[in-house]
Amino acid sequence: MLALSIDMGGTHIGCGVVRDNELLGSSSLDSERAESLESLLPCVTAALKKILRESGVTAGECHGVAVGFPGIVDVRKSRILSTLKKYEDAIRLDLEQWAIEQFGLRLRIENDARMALLGEQYAGAAQGAQDVVMITLGTGIGGAAMMLGKLVRGAHSQAACLGGHLPVNYRGRKCACGNVGCAEAEAAGWSLPQIVRETPGFHESSLAGVAHIDFQTLFAAARNEDAVACAVQQHCLYVWAANAVALIHAYDPEVVVFGGGVMQSPDVILTFVQKYVEEHAWTSWGTPRVRAAVLGGNAALLGAVPLLSEDLRHT
Ligand SMILES: [Zn+2]
Repeated sequence: MLALSIDMGGTHIGCGVVRDNELLGSSSLDSERAESLESLLPCVTAALKKILRESGVTAGECHGVAVGFPGIVDVRKSRILSTLKKYEDAIRLDLEQWAIEQFGLRLRIENDARMALLGEQYAGAAQGAQDVVMITLGTGIGGAAMMLGKLVRGAHSQAACLGGHLPVNYRGRKCACGNVGCAEAEAAGWSLPQIVRETPGFHESSLAGVAHIDFQTLFAAARNEDAVACAVQQHCLYVWAANAVALIHAYDPEVVVFGGGVMQSPDVILTFVQKYVEEHAWTSWGTPRVRAAVLGGNAALLGAVPLLSEDLRHT
């Protein structure tokens, strides 16, 4: 099956043409400073048409357009229900109409972490597993779960996709979602610079001179034994591990897949989380395996074929 695929991330929009579990071509658009999703749609259209041309595929050969979106999404109605300070105009956009007008194709839209889980289960780290939890570490923390081979969605489409908003500290930081001490308020890309700046000793740290603190700079400084970086890295590892245990207790997975941009340095994260899970998760059958996403930034794009193939009548 051929399909067009779009992954709307916090800072970039990925566009691709896929054939089954293979990415024929892709490109990435900077969306960090975009005022609206509507203003980006012409660029998305142009990017997809260019990839189609370069891949030697026509839109007519494709089975549809699959979209991963960072928010609460109703796949059954192809509507975005709620966003969190990103692409806020998306709720009133008719993306189905856009896909028909531009490509003559049907469109399915799903939460981006669910798309990434589908991709990893179809062609990556969770192949063959029917019970999977996905945690994506990036600007925010995305979550998704599959139980008995089916994505967990719930009555209001928000089940299992708010894993990053499970609280890990009720006295913690205020989150953009309205809650306090969410995993992503305590250890994600958007909250990291403030966490680092508020750590005792910051002014003596090598990070004090860094204009844009992200996980790559944090992990690099920790490797150089910067005390603040080591303390914050350790804090983040505990948050992610506690988040994994909470999701294991909730969704009974055999595999927990960690993806997202932070996983460029997976070893330290996987080792820590696997050990924490062995020590702290209550399971009756053994220990879930903790794995790194193998499709990297392409996981959500490769969720296109399983998403477009899914029979939604019983979801
Ligand atoms: Zn939250």
